[in-house]
Amino acid sequence: MSRFHTQDAKNLLSKLTARRLWNGLKVWSSYYISKWTKKPVQWGYPISISFEPTNFCNLRCPECPSGLRSFTRPTGMLQKDFFRQTIDEMHRELLYLVFYFQGEPYLNPNFLEMVKYASDKKDLHGHIYQCALPDG
Ligand code: SF4
Repeated sequence: MSRFHTQDAKNLLSKLTARRLWNGLKVWSSYYISKWTKKPVQWGYPISISFEPTNFCNLRCPECPSGLRSFTRPTGMLQKDFFRQTIDEMHRELLYLVFYFQGEPYLNPNFLEMVKYASDKKDLHGHIYQCALPDG
């Protein structure tokens, strides 16, 4: 059963700006216009993005492509310059940022620096999902 996290909801709502609301309205309306006209319409920027600091992990969980080393794409680390450029371009429209896709985020040596960079864009709401603790 999911629980409603009041503080998290308040924090997210406190990050809403007129620009983000307008962007969200553009995304929402382009979805419905595409659905009704059956033609692709894309307005606005994403309201949420997920970065993958790395797809590598030091554990070998058997249900996970990272643990099984079974990716069909190269294993590597997110480059901080690419991260910064993306944040610089999108932070005014972006409402929600996630630091996880696959792999263990803390294994990227620039991870905390990237979190600080995003955090310094004071009005961004972010979540860090951690899968495993790195080896000492
Ligand atoms: S700790 Fe997480 S990322 Fe690592 S192998 Fe297990 S499930 Fe995959």
